Amino acid sequence: MQVEPDSAEDWTRPGVYEVVPGVYRIPLPLPTDGLKAVNVYALTGVGGPVLIDSGWAITEARETLDAALDTLGHTVADVRRFLVTHIHRDHYQMAVAVRREFGNQVSLGAGEEPAITLLSEPMRRPMSGRVEEMRRYGATELVNWLMSRMDQMHHDPAAWAPPDDWLQDDQTVAVPARTLRVIATPGHTRGHVVFVDAEARMMFAGDHVLPHITPSIGFEAYRSEQPLGSYLDSLRLVRGLPDQRLLPAHGPVSPSVHARVDQLLDHHAHRLDQAVVAVGEGGTAFDAAQRLTWTRRERKLADLDEFNQMLAVAETAAHLDLLVAQGRLRSTDTEGVLFYQSG
Ligand SMILES: [Zn+2]
Repeated sequence: MQVEPDSAEDWTRPGVYEVVPGVYRIPLPLPTDGLKAVNVYALTGVGGPVLIDSGWAITEARETLDAALDTLGHTVADVRRFLVTHIHRDHYQMAVAVRREFGNQVSLGAGEEPAITLLSEPMRRPMSGRVEEMRRYGATELVNWLMSRMDQMHHDPAAWAPPDDWLQDDQTVAVPARTLRVIATPGHTRGHVVFVDAEARMMFAGDHVLPHITPSIGFEAYRSEQPLGSYLDSLRLVRGLPDQRLLPAHGPVSPSVHARVDQLLDHHAHRLDQAVVAVGEGGTAFDAAQRLTWTRRERKLADLDEFNQMLAVAETAAHLDLLVAQGRLRSTDTEGVLFYQSG
């Protein structure tokens, strides 16, 4: 077992990091270029461990999790319950895979139910919703890219099997030696939840508040009307709670939820202003995404890979739709493609 690395060190390094006695951060590898790892938190004590988030169901991650639980004197079979912050595969799918073997309890936010219903359909074509969306945002090149790859994409409905129970907003959950409060924080996904240990002043924040990056907004199987509006509301909601330690799903544990939420609110306010400028004389979300820059290195849209271009276009659309709701822009629908203009 190791102590939590300081911020200069790599938080993705495999290990078991004690946050406080009975709470351990376990980074599991991800097979993607962008995010290198996802944190699972193990809460240990009488009755077997409870895990917050579960990782992506890949062999390497499973081996890392097995080794970590072994350090804590457990196996995955002992896991009493998986509390999952949201539906994304790097958080949810390992729980479903482990449950298939050992029958563990899996819990997910109630707001994810429509997305689970959609994704667990056996005949669903993967990314079919994305094609429609990208067309609507004027991203013809990305529509073509998706269409050319759709037949090779494999959809496994079993990986999206429903949880055993749906977590309700403000519900309390008893875990070893502590009580967690479930707080619905829609935005990154519709059914995202965070878990708050008020007594220990810790928030298991999932992807809602991340220390180094901003979570993707508006890219989900079952998109809400105003994903960015919901996200900003959910940021203000957790800003209204007493300040606590941030235990994020990606990144190291950091001292203050409030400090990071303030930065995120500033970031999106600035990004909304930039989006107005990017719309300029008028254009689609794709046009605006091309005029904005992306990542901390300020890259052009065309320099991102196609998947990240889709995230960027969906995120731009989420900003433009909020600007329309705020009266700063207006939009018109021309044969299924949305054009934005200043309001
Ligand atoms: Zn994530």
